[in-house]
Formats: sequence, C-alpha cells, structure tokens
Amino acid sequence: MGQLNRRALLRQLQKLGVASRAELAKALGMSQPTAGKIVDELIATGVLEEIEVAEAGGAETGVRGRPGRKLRLNQSRSRLLAIQLGLQETTVARLSLGVPPADEWHFTFALAQTEAQPARAWETSLRAAARAIGGRDFLGVLLSVPGIVDETANRILFSPNIHWTEKADLAKIVRRVWDLPVLLVQEERALALGHHLAHPECEDFLLVDFGEGVGGAIIVAGRPLANPLPISGEIGHTPVLGNPRQCGCGAVGCMETLVSLRGLLESFAAATRGKKHSWSQLREHIAAHGIEPWLAHPLDAAATAIAGALNVLGLRRVVITGSLTELPAAVLAHLARAVQDGSMWARFGRVECVAAPRRRTAGLIAVGIDRLIVPDSPPKKDFPKNGAPKVGRVKFSC
Ligand SMILES: [Zn+2]
Repeated sequence: MGQLNRRALLRQLQKLGVASRAELAKALGMSQPTAGKIVDELIATGVLEEIEVAEAGGAETGVRGRPGRKLRLNQSRSRLLAIQLGLQETTVARLSLGVPPADEWHFTFALAQTEAQPARAWETSLRAAARAIGGRDFLGVLLSVPGIVDETANRILFSPNIHWTEKADLAKIVRRVWDLPVLLVQEERALALGHHLAHPECEDFLLVDFGEGVGGAIIVAGRPLANPLPISGEIGHTPVLGNPRQCGCGAVGCMETLVSLRGLLESFAAATRGKKHSWSQLREHIAAHGIEPWLAHPLDAAATAIAGALNVLGLRRVVITGSLTELPAAVLAHLARAVQDGSMWARFGRVECVAAPRRRTAGLIAVGIDRLIVPDSPPKKDFPKNGAPKVGRVKFSC
C-alpha cells in the first residue's frame, strides 16, 4: 500500500505541478497524517522539495501548519541521466524530476556511418559524455532507443534502422560507463508519456512521430496501452500498395519509406528531375508551391494508416510530432483532413489531429519516477534478463 500511495501522490503532483500537503491529501482522499508522512519521506530522499509560494493577496491564510509552503518534484538537483540513441546522433542530458519546458540536451555525438565496431565506438563516446556531464547524484539512466524494445527484458529485439543495437547489450555498455541502473525505453513511448506529462488533460491519444523513421505510441486513460507483445504503434511499417521502396525492416513498401525525412527528400528529388535537395529547400518549395502530388501521396498513405489505427483502437485524437511539424501548416492541414476522411468517428463526431513538440525528456522522467523511485519491486543495480520490474501494467486511480 505504501508504494501505491507514494506513486499516487507523485502522479498527482506531476499533474498539479505545485501543491500544498493539504491539497494533496484532499485530491488523493488520504488522511493528512498519511499524506504528510509520505511527503516527509520523499523530501528526505530528495524526490520532493518545498518552496515558498506567495499566497493570493499576500495575506496569511490562517491555515494551520505552513502557510505559503508548497511542494513540487525536485527541480534543484539533477537526479536522472537521459540518453537518446538516434540514427544520426546520440544525445545526453542531466534531468531533474520536474517537467522541463522543452527538451534540452547537454552532450551530442555521432558515429561514422562506416564505423566497423559501432558498439565499441558508442561506448568510447559515452565515456567522453560522462567526463563532460559529471555528477554522481544520479538515481539511474534512461536510454531512449528506436525499434522493437522489450522494456521488461531491457533489450532491443529488432531495430530496422540501427541493426547493430540488436546484438549489443546496450544496458551493459552504459553500466560500464555509469555504474547505475539502466532502463531502455522505446523512443515513441517516451514521446507519448512526455506529451501526457506536459498535458495531463490529454488522456487518450495516438502519437505519431515523423523523423528518420515513422513510429507511434498509444496512451489510454493516461497510461501506455497494455498489449501482449512488446510491440505496438509500429504504424510506419504499414504497407502501401504500389510502393516499391525497400524498408530497413526487410519488407517492401512500408509507409515510412515515403514519409520519413529520407523518404520525402527522395520523392522531392524525383519530382524535381532527380536533383538532391536539403530539408530546408524542401520546406521552402512547399511554402511556394503548396501540396503537390509528390507530397500529397505520402501524406495520404500516412493518413490511411493513422485512420485505420483510430478505427481499430477507438481513439479520436492524434498527436503529430517531429519533422512534419517543421513544414508549412498546409502539410499538417492536409494530413488532418485525410485522417478525418478515413476515420469512422469523424462521420458523426470530432477527430482531432494536432501538432506538438517532442517531449522526450519529460517522458523519460515519467519512466524514471515510475520505475526507479516508486517501482513495483525494489530497483536492482544490475537489471538481469526477466528481472526488471514491469512498466505500464499497473493502473492507478488518482
Ligand atoms: Zn518497414
């Protein structure tokens, strides 16, 4: 019960941002002594901090205890280390437990595409990151990775765009650099949890991220959708009829080969007599010419897959992050219209398709709090196979 109460209290505080002890006890339906005891314990361990908040009107409220003193998740100390492994580069950040206003990375490195021993080179670069980042106050490391990730077993099963990560034990590599618990988090899942943390009122949605690949994640009732296999949201690998492009996953015709950064640049080049262009040239071209057929087709393919997911999952809200949000607004408007055309719910109800910034670090903080600070079972320094606590299967009513 203690752990459930702690978790409920932390979730409530994430939602409220700042709250007094009395407000927390009331919102959770706990007695004030129970809530107070949990709060004291979480302050002692550096998870929460007390701050002075000016009361409305500046007057003493007469409330017994500590008028004007409120609680929030500790924003004064870096308690978590985040690593984002991407196709082009790896970024590293120190994180406090508060929700950051935007993603901010403190160290970035890239491996050569021709690197013969990528795992070893990655470890060497991480050591450089450790020297630059410093700090020994971390509770653990959250590692955001693409591909099919078994978060329970802490390993990557399949990675269409970074195959070397399937064989390398990434958690072990990171532990050799930082002797701390390491948790692998599927990258779109981190984005979806981050979006939810930044917008707690947004409880049910499909997030689709466009970038080097196209992936999704599903949040239902504020939690990642529980499903039997360690795979979900792989919307980018929906086949598009007549699309001859080879995908990194081994199949032919996947939607992401059309709408990823590379896919769009390829179509743009083909439409402009094979000339290679940059992403900013593509953006300027769209601003000047609108949605031409070379762009409409990939967008319609993406919308078809998204609408299919909405129809199957029973969702009516889509959050779009990543490269498509950097393009002129007409692009998102076209996609949103096509999603509505394919959604059954839109025939009589409202289907939303909104753009949002990537909130990856916020998502990693949410996972860190859930699995390192208030885990189902005590955190182990060395998560063995099958030994890591489960995530996303426990449902709380706050
Ligand atoms: Zn594919």
